[in-house]
Amino acid sequence: MHERLDPRAEPPHRAHVPDLTADGPKGRAKRTRLALGAAVADGGWTLLDHPMLALDVAGSPAFLEPDAVVVHPDGSWTVVEIKSFPMLDGSADPAKVGAAARQAAVYVLALERVAAALATDGEDDGEGGEGEDGGVHGRVPAVRHRVLLVCPKDFSNLPTAAAVDVRKQRAVTARQLTRLTRLEDIADALPEGTCFAPDRPAGELVEAVERVPATYAPDCLAACELAFHCRDRSRADGAVATLGRSVRADLGGLATVEDVLSAAHGESGDPDDPAVAALRRAAALRAEALAGLPRIPAPAGAHATETTAGAHATETTAALQGVPACP
Ligand code: SF4
Repeated sequence: MHERLDPRAEPPHRAHVPDLTADGPKGRAKRTRLALGAAVADGGWTLLDHPMLALDVAGSPAFLEPDAVVVHPDGSWTVVEIKSFPMLDGSADPAKVGAAARQAAVYVLALERVAAALATDGEDDGEGGEGEDGGVHGRVPAVRHRVLLVCPKDFSNLPTAAAVDVRKQRAVTARQLTRLTRLEDIADALPEGTCFAPDRPAGELVEAVERVPATYAPDCLAACELAFHCRDRSRADGAVATLGRSVRADLGGLATVEDVLSAAHGESGDPDDPAVAALRRAAALRAEALAGLPRIPAPAGAHATETTAGAHATETTAALQGVPACP
């Protein structure tokens, strides 16, 4: 940590490692908050091993457990994320590093909430405690936006570490959190008596779940236990989001497979809509390729974005019709 993120600070000859045990996630979150406040007040290096953080998500607290948080001598905080994928010659799989960065960004956001709360000495912490939070008296501790990623070195059992900048992931996550529909609003829109208790009969539970609107995307498969249910529902509705967020974005206002095919065949849609125009051109190219006719020249003035949209649309119409994309 000293070498990679804070070489100007005094080297950590010893680090304080506070005990964070407490009853339940709320108790552990409170304990973590007290330990962070005490570490800032004491100065020096402090390592919080598996602290517990609370983050408000759509009006409900979510409890998060980073691998570690380090408090620097200047009072700033750094998230440490430990992963099992290897770092080979100083670099690792970009997709896995990206996922780790997104995860760490959520911890950074949660720590920023704790830092802001600590600076408000004596205020209720929203977790049932008040005025005993190890407050830092108006000074908001800085949460660093470069996290420390720790991985095995070159398939060995030795650790190595690299600093990862999570500013972009933090900004995206913060924006997504502010745009989430609050749980109370979702609950208010449900019919009276809707119940999600796991001990209810399966049919009743499925009915209750289906009353909640959901926008399935393939990413859900890696992140949500309801993914197969939502995928079946999305496919039954013919939603184009089933094919991925990028396809959904390319198709603009065309939300279902039926709309897309109808627009591609010239039966509906505004011809001036770029998505409709690209679909029609893609459909013509596909028909031409299948018929083995000479290639239709691109319309005069066609530009790069139209060509790209056409390529996406070709893939999309091919995917929708269950045949391989035209080369
Ligand atoms: S799978 Fe989960 S995240 Fe995806 S739409 Fe369904 S409930 Fe939402």
